Amino acid sequence: MGGELVLPGRKWVSWLGNVLGGGDPLEGLKRVLGFQVRSSGAPGPLTLKEVEELEQLTQQLMQDMEHPQRQNVAVSESCGRCHQPLARAQPAVRALGQLFHITCFTCHQCEQQLQGQQFYSVEGAPYCEGCYTDTLEKCNTCGQPITDRMLRATGKAYHPQCFTCVVCACPLEGTSFIVDQANRPHCVPDYHKQYAPRCSVCAEPIMPEPGREETVRVVALDKNFHMKCYKCEDCGKALSIEADDNGCFPLDGHVLCRKCHTARTQT
Ligand SMILES: [Zn+2]
Ligand SMILES: [Zn+2]
Ligand SMILES: [Zn+2]
Ligand SMILES: [Zn+2]
Ligand SMILES: [Zn+2]
Ligand SMILES: [Zn+2]
Repeated sequence: MGGELVLPGRKWVSWLGNVLGGGDPLEGLKRVLGFQVRSSGAPGPLTLKEVEELEQLTQQLMQDMEHPQRQNVAVSESCGRCHQPLARAQPAVRALGQLFHITCFTCHQCEQQLQGQQFYSVEGAPYCEGCYTDTLEKCNTCGQPITDRMLRATGKAYHPQCFTCVVCACPLEGTSFIVDQANRPHCVPDYHKQYAPRCSVCAEPIMPEPGREETVRVVALDKNFHMKCYKCEDCGKALSIEADDNGCFPLDGHVLCRKCHTARTQT
């Protein structure tokens, strides 16, 4: 038995490594106990008295640490994915109201680790940003995923700002629109301009006035007419749509009033 012993530092390296997060074990002890060690480098030889003091302080530290350690062990937390217990010295991720092993906290779709990354919860499962985006519906107009508000019309999904008239591109959200046979949305004026029957006199579409829902279309001799365009071809007299004396008296496909009809038949 000599006067000096070598401090058995190894044991403390691992032990303090867990408790204090690594580093020089003697520095760690110093931080915890305010204990003065002789050298700041590798643990050097100490006197027996110093070793005794150190061991006594270590014992005390062990006791102080035992209590919280036991408590931590009693709270048996397990990984939300693999359901294996989480060792308390092991780094863990807290997310979605659960704890996970870092290696267990992965994207539900592509399995990449999500620790320290932006992730999204889809029905309680974590997704990386890319896979989350893939789960989103795509806009029928621009093809981009819809992350915010979605407008559903004609059975398809749209960004509200992408649901526009295919002719004039005016926004259709919250207004009336009409779809054509290919299910493409049109504002009401453009739909009528494109698809409304045309007047056989002026060739303009027969469509409601702005702000009106309906219009009157006169059909005569298999042709369409605006109300205002339905008049005698010869004298310009407005014709009644009733089958009375002021109505149309057609002759060889011509729209005539009664008087002009009679005049033409007499020449
Ligand atoms: Zn796990
Ligand atoms: Zn993913
Ligand atoms: Zn869009
Ligand atoms: Zn339009
Ligand atoms: Zn007309
Ligand atoms: Zn006439």
